[in-house]
Amino acid sequence: LLQNSRQNNTAWHIRHILSARQFTREDLDLVLEHAAAMEILVKEKGWSNTLAGKVMATIFYEPSTRTRMSFEFAMSKLGGKVCGTENAKEFSSASKGETIEDTVRVLSYADVIVIRHYEQGAAERAAKVSAVPIINAGDGPGEHPTQALLDLYTIKKEFGVFDGKTIAMVGDLLNGRTVRSLAQLLTHFSGVSIIFVSPKKLRVCDDIKQLLKERGVAFTETERIEDALPTADVLYMTRIQKERFKNPDGTANEEEYNKYKGVYVLGLDKIKQMKDKAIIMHPLPRVDEIPVEADADPRARYFEQAKNGLYVRMALLDLLINK
Ligand code: ASP
Repeated sequence: LLQNSRQNNTAWHIRHILSARQFTREDLDLVLEHAAAMEILVKEKGWSNTLAGKVMATIFYEPSTRTRMSFEFAMSKLGGKVCGTENAKEFSSASKGETIEDTVRVLSYADVIVIRHYEQGAAERAAKVSAVPIINAGDGPGEHPTQALLDLYTIKKEFGVFDGKTIAMVGDLLNGRTVRSLAQLLTHFSGVSIIFVSPKKLRVCDDIKQLLKERGVAFTETERIEDALPTADVLYMTRIQKERFKNPDGTANEEEYNKYKGVYVLGLDKIKQMKDKAIIMHPLPRVDEIPVEADADPRARYFEQAKNGLYVRMALLDLLINK
């Protein structure tokens, strides 16, 4: 099954996964198809040895649960090995002043390097000097392309198609990197419309809106979640990105964060206003924007969404390393 799926994938051309903007429609079809093959593999056999002898390095300068663990599990389930560090800001030579460029130069004995960094553009800088493929697992408020791919996979599994769907993205759209990446991927499907729901000061950046305009994607902006509830097919909730609220001297700006904390809470009263066939997604972690009472609602998909990360990351690792 994997071989078949990979043979169809002769067009794979991506060396580093840095931004959602790199992906063409064909690339997306290919990743989604390969991820589906991986899901079958995991469910029927559990593992394969397609990446035996290969090693993935992970360097995470910012906290992560799902992304790091699902990459590690993905590599392990394909027979590969994992070496890495979490809290790389303290535990790696970064604490001695080493640049990300020098770190990846040294890691050239890995077969793939997965990086999460607090600076936008860090993965791209690393890729410029890296001898091996780099995967951007989140670069500050920049992008999180592998999350967006698993989001897409989740929507595809649910509806089969994207065309004509309304996706509402709710929360801190200024600093939320998953929203930035997902919005870019959605431009490849016709008839998709997006509702951005955020406080005025946390609106999605102009570069994304510009791209949507260029590609003819209809979108609206509102501060009221109620405007999105009755029409959204996908309600994509996000948390207010606390770690991005900083004073000019770099210390945490709690006061500014507190202004927005709790601004959108998807209580049962709000869920009632959604379509029966709609789904609720969230890249997680949630803070207070989805109360646990919502978990029992048949529309909740965020835990399944997280699980899909395993299949999508297996597909990406296989494509990057074995292409
Ligand atoms: N886990 C996602 C990210 O790393 C979403 C979040 O942290 O809010 O961007």
